[in-house]
Amino acid sequence: MHRSGQPLYHLPGDALRAGKSAAPQAGAIRRRRYDVEQPVNDETVIMWFRQDLRLADNPALVAACRQGRVVPVYIFDDMNAGDWLPGAASRWWLHQSLTSLAASLDNRLLVLRGDPRKLIPELVRQYQAGAVFWNRCYEPWQMQRDQQIKKQLGDQGIPAYSSKASLLWEPWEVHKQDGTPYRVFTPFYRNGCLGQPEPRLPLPAPDLLRLAGESHTDVGSLDLMPSINWYESLASRWTSGEAGASTALQRFLEQGLQQYKKGRDFPALKAVSRLSPYLHHGEISPFQVWHAAKQFDTTARAEEQTEHFIRELVWREFSCHLLYHFPHLTRQNLQPRFDRFPWRDDEPALRRWQHGMTGYPIVDAGMRELWQTGYMHNRVRMIVASFLVKNLMIHWHRGEDWFWDCLVDADLASNSASWQWVAGCGADAAPYFRIFNPVTQGGKFDPHGEYVRSYIPEIAALPDRWLHDPSSAPAAILEQAGIVLDQHYPRAMVDLRDSRERALAAYQSIKGD
Ligand code: FAD
Repeated sequence: MHRSGQPLYHLPGDALRAGKSAAPQAGAIRRRRYDVEQPVNDETVIMWFRQDLRLADNPALVAACRQGRVVPVYIFDDMNAGDWLPGAASRWWLHQSLTSLAASLDNRLLVLRGDPRKLIPELVRQYQAGAVFWNRCYEPWQMQRDQQIKKQLGDQGIPAYSSKASLLWEPWEVHKQDGTPYRVFTPFYRNGCLGQPEPRLPLPAPDLLRLAGESHTDVGSLDLMPSINWYESLASRWTSGEAGASTALQRFLEQGLQQYKKGRDFPALKAVSRLSPYLHHGEISPFQVWHAAKQFDTTARAEEQTEHFIRELVWREFSCHLLYHFPHLTRQNLQPRFDRFPWRDDEPALRRWQHGMTGYPIVDAGMRELWQTGYMHNRVRMIVASFLVKNLMIHWHRGEDWFWDCLVDADLASNSASWQWVAGCGADAAPYFRIFNPVTQGGKFDPHGEYVRSYIPEIAALPDRWLHDPSSAPAAILEQAGIVLDQHYPRAMVDLRDSRERALAAYQSIKGD
């Protein structure tokens, strides 16, 4: 039941309030007409797509369509992003996603590369546009840039309208009673988010798009695709774009949601949604996901699963909340005592971790999953991250950077907050003494080894008993499985007990501030 009874639009004027809300329609993009020849009025407006690469549930697009003929634009901003230009896997995804968005815009999406602070005012002049519309982004560098553009346009008498579309609750909407931001997830979720009116229902895609401009989209001109073809295995696993997102959501609702609560920890099961890249690029909105999950099955048992799933979805909100209120989250320890942590500089060890050659199969399977698919299961992300920062004592920045380059869902807020969480230096961090043991974690969450065997075929013949710790297997077992350590698969690169002790001693040395 919709608690407020009203959709909570945050849009210019009241135009949208008259619009219909739509229950999510997983699996289908609404049919629409293109009418470029017969505009209803003469006003031309710019719709600036960013992390909202979809037509459905796109408040800025709906508002733009109601105002006039729309020039749809995407700008790959390589001027303002600093260190956080999308990594290689994200750029690959973006190329596919823009191609798909362009197709649903009759190939009239104008794609540009450069500084939006220059390009947006230029487009306004070129098209004599009367307004600019976009959905809000929350990364610090984007917010700063957008404020500048809004001011620039305002000075020229051109209104810029921004909407809430990619978060259920904006970071300034949820705060503690004393007005300060939350730093701990559970009260953020229970008191902060669940205390708010339920998120609005998703909007349908505009029925009629009146497109202005002559452009014929050339996504290739953005030069997002890698120069060598390492992406074939990604391409065989993912269908990006709005339709791909709807299919992934539908598949999850039918096959994953019912086992989510327990199943979400087992990487071999199809119990998680794999919606993260679609959510990051905005091919689906959290509003669509929230309501689709809530409406899918309302039996008591299903509700329990859904509640758990929604809770995870809210972790995404929490990460954005942290990044907004603590913008240095991306690089600075939220707990300053960690500035004194004696990180080790060990390039060869870092490379073994990156290449999935540590000798601990659950870690190696995760790192190979990342390389081959651009994704890694959440349980395994925690295990590999713990191994890097605790067993190897390599700085979390190095892991953050590698994930940034390799993940198709690389997201500044979630990635930074999660790395800080695992390293123990974050706001609501894992306790420093929680050091995942990759052997016991493997045995617990991949007990029959399906996950490990699928990414490390060279040890597939080992019996389950030894699969997660080949270095401890008796010689006869290794021989039977046809494995020579360091020839077919590496010997464990560190001793788990010794490296755990070393990490605990290091944590002890910074305790106290
Ligand atoms: P599901 O379990 O189906 O969850 C649904 C959605 O909820 C996800 O798509 C995601 O948007 C959100 N979500 C779930 N768990 C988390 C979480 N712990 N934190 C934030 N949001 C969450 N997630 C990213 O989207 N981008 C990242 O760059 C990223 N980096 C991470 C780095 C580390 C070291 C760790 C431990 C986690 C990271 N995560 C990141 C969080 C999490 O692992 C992924 O969101 C999740 O695995 C995505 O898979 P899914 O869509 O199947 O998730």
